[in-house]
Amino acid sequence: MTSLHDSDVGQPVDPADGGRSLKLLSVVAPVYNEVAIIEQFYSRVCAALNGVGFEMVLVDDGSSDGSDIELLKLASNDPRVRVVQLSRNFGHQTALTAGLDHARGDAVVMLDADLQDPPELIPRMLDHWRAGCDVIYAVREQREGESHFKLATARWFYSLFDRLAQVELQHNSGDFRMLDRRALDALLSMRERNRFLRGMTVWVGYRQAAVPYTRDRRYAGVTKYTISKMMRFSLDAISSFSHRPLQLATLLGFLISTLAFIAIPVVIVLRLLGSYLPGFGSLTIAVLLLGGIQLIAIGIIGEYVGRIYDEVKGRPLYLVRGRVNIPDDEAPPVSTASAPSQPGRTM
Ligand code: UDP
Ligand code: MG
Repeated sequence: MTSLHDSDVGQPVDPADGGRSLKLLSVVAPVYNEVAIIEQFYSRVCAALNGVGFEMVLVDDGSSDGSDIELLKLASNDPRVRVVQLSRNFGHQTALTAGLDHARGDAVVMLDADLQDPPELIPRMLDHWRAGCDVIYAVREQREGESHFKLATARWFYSLFDRLAQVELQHNSGDFRMLDRRALDALLSMRERNRFLRGMTVWVGYRQAAVPYTRDRRYAGVTKYTISKMMRFSLDAISSFSHRPLQLATLLGFLISTLAFIAIPVVIVLRLLGSYLPGFGSLTIAVLLLGGIQLIAIGIIGEYVGRIYDEVKGRPLYLVRGRVNIPDDEAPPVSTASAPSQPGRTM
């Protein structure tokens, strides 16, 4: 992975990139029950991007607090605001994907709607993009107003992920990142179900750069990540970038079989020494050996099932209930984003 840092802006640009000029920037944000925030989010983004041609793709992730009405209001006053309404709550990562699917920009930036990711950082990210970087991720140097619990669990998660997964994830980088169109297209071609976007954006490679920032406290409302959502999210992250947990079963099988083999001479020695309980030794060995072999077999099957499981469930990632300021011909094709069912195909 090439990882540049903030100070690297202004380095010679790869001639293949030919220097970049921006026609349209897509700002993508998922919204789930954020009625108290939406307007403020809209005005902060508009102020931060003064003079930049941009569109805002806001995804209503099945909100039930009137956020949808607030979004419609914004969209009716400003055609740059495009709204994708999902049919129910699909979760942060899927909602983000829906937004990215609908983005038309040469560059796209994704951020949380709760203003924890300051939109004022976007122009600095754009400088990196113009200098030829394809994935620009914001790295939190400080996190304001977050509980010890959240900070500690985040730390545990990142160190576990480091140990298990094959991609190198920058600690404390959230989903606040900018992607060039080619990196975005690569990302969108990955239609896997367990989505861990920040790992996937690193996986696509290209030229990557980090921009440090201070993560603010939430502007209003409370976190939408419950403990169970956080657990599921970490499991998704690890399972989609590592097969280590499955390999653990194989390892365990070998360990236990080894124990059984060690037990054979021990039983013989005990027999010779005369301290011997009839039947005990042979039974223990048989149980350990069989148990070990079974675990190995389950482990190996698990390896395959894990891989098949990743692939076979051809479900749509999300379903769209409606779109505002997005003409039908600009909606992503059904096969990838899956809005209503295709003619002649039952769902
Ligand atoms: N979000 C969403 N669907 C969900 C949970 C969250 O679209 O099921 C959105 C939420 O509205 C916010 C962003 O994802 O814009 C991040 O969520 P949150 O601030 O609750 O997470 P935290 O910052 O506490 O990790
Ligand atoms: Mg937040």
